[in-house]
Amino acid sequence: MEKKAKIIATLGPSIYSETKLKRLVDLGVDAFRINFSHNTKGINKIITKIRRIEKKSGKKLSLIADLQGVKLRIGNIKDNNQKIKLNQKFIFDNNKFLGNDRRVNFPYPKILKRLKKGNKILIDDGKFLFKVVGKKKNSVITKCLSHNCILKSNKSIHIPNFDIAFNKLTSKDRKDLKIAIKLGCNWIALSYLQNEKIILETRKLIKKDMGIISKIENKHALKNIKKIIQASDSIMIARGDLAIDIGHSEVPKVQLSLIKKCSQYSKSVIVATQMLETMIENNTATRAEINDIATAIFQGADTVMLSAEAAIGKFPAQAVSTMTQTILSTEKYKKDHIEDFKNLIITNKDPVKSILLSVKDIAYNPNVKAIIVFSNSGKSAKLVSAMRPAAKILTISPNINISRQVSLLWGVQSINSRDANGWKDMMTISKEIIKKLKFVKKNDFVIITAGLPFGKAGMTNMIRLYKVGTK
Ligand code: PGA
Ligand code: MN
Repeated sequence: MEKKAKIIATLGPSIYSETKLKRLVDLGVDAFRINFSHNTKGINKIITKIRRIEKKSGKKLSLIADLQGVKLRIGNIKDNNQKIKLNQKFIFDNNKFLGNDRRVNFPYPKILKRLKKGNKILIDDGKFLFKVVGKKKNSVITKCLSHNCILKSNKSIHIPNFDIAFNKLTSKDRKDLKIAIKLGCNWIALSYLQNEKIILETRKLIKKDMGIISKIENKHALKNIKKIIQASDSIMIARGDLAIDIGHSEVPKVQLSLIKKCSQYSKSVIVATQMLETMIENNTATRAEINDIATAIFQGADTVMLSAEAAIGKFPAQAVSTMTQTILSTEKYKKDHIEDFKNLIITNKDPVKSILLSVKDIAYNPNVKAIIVFSNSGKSAKLVSAMRPAAKILTISPNINISRQVSLLWGVQSINSRDANGWKDMMTISKEIIKKLKFVKKNDFVIITAGLPFGKAGMTNMIRLYKVGTK
């Protein structure tokens, strides 16, 4: 059986060899993420390997460029390791020289000025806590409130309940965006966005055949979630940073509610971070981690993601295979026992959604074995996946980048083929595809959906229920 939900692996030194990349694809990886927060030198060579693997495997692979966004970071630290004692004073200041066990550079003078007594400063993904106890002109004096605080260079800074506006791409993001386009990335992921403005800015800078993933990792984004979902092609529940911003125990309910919202608006959704965290070091997962993956699948996520587990972990292949097995087993149960909640879909007077909702309805018939979607731009491919129909989805686009993009989505097997030039040709292409599907027999039904007239169509407007073996 094939899994419906997809897997993203984050690229990193643990999987850079062609053999390892290929193994991951064989085990179930559908997309790779380039994390532009880290050094991406030489990444073009890795992408060449991925595209070679794609060609041989026949399975389309999505490439995601994850832009850094605004992430505040402290300066460099002497020996890249300084112990700060519990309750000791520690200074964040404007001086560029190396930090030590008394102070470190905080390279954001405007923020430094706005900090007040009582503000909390979290360092290193929230691991270490400092509280502001005093202020000078260009520095703040804090008290360290963490046991075993070891500061390292350039670690992240979070300041809870402190508004920092972020409405425009940073110059690094704009530069990385150009690199991503050159590399042929199929998705751009936007970090730390607060509202839809950066999505609209990005949309103007990328190619039409690229999609946008909005990473939800702070309160602002949650507040503006409706507009963000509407402006995006996909949402990532970025639980790592989100947990730091809203509190760890808030994340589960936010995850469920975001998945439901994406379903309403027919947008795809990725659940990310720490899904198999212990597998960075161990070759088996904890029961809780397996349960976390299963929960994401039960809730209706399109895609689950591996971060450090793949990029720098000791057991990337085992992590992927753990994910695949858990997805398969969960989907099997889900299919047999649970009526999905995809009945809240808002069609918003979008006729394409109405057509594809009908496709979903027709596909409840167990004799319907597959749905063939002619989708040049990828729009119908995205929508049909979001409807979660019971039959296998095959999407056809003549644009290889669209085929790659939509391969990230739930249940989609994307085929890169020439566009049909008319009804007869549509049937010829469809019959060729059907012939290769082992699970489709004579007298089964296949749904074919497309936009007519071919070549000129602006939208999907036709459904054919084809009985296999007939003309
Ligand atoms: P990151 O995003 O891995 O780029 O930080 C995901 C998250 O914050 O969970
Ligand atoms: Mn993040």
